[in-house]
Amino acid sequence: MKSVIKCPKNEFIIECCKCHKVRTKDGWEHKVKDHKKPVSHTYCDSCFQVACGQIERIVSNN
Ligand SMILES: [Zn+2]
Repeated sequence: MKSVIKCPKNEFIIECCKCHKVRTKDGWEHKVKDHKKPVSHTYCDSCFQVACGQIERIVSNN
């Protein structure tokens, strides 16, 4: 049995929780948000790299 979760990508604004860039089809941009849409928070590519570096430092200190 196979279940498919349909995620309507255009229904959500994907926003970086650190720099507040919004994901568009062309990449991460500083944009005025459409407040009618629900916002999903994540990391953009550059903040993800920073967060990974921080996690690695924390892990290596233990
Ligand atoms: Zn970011």
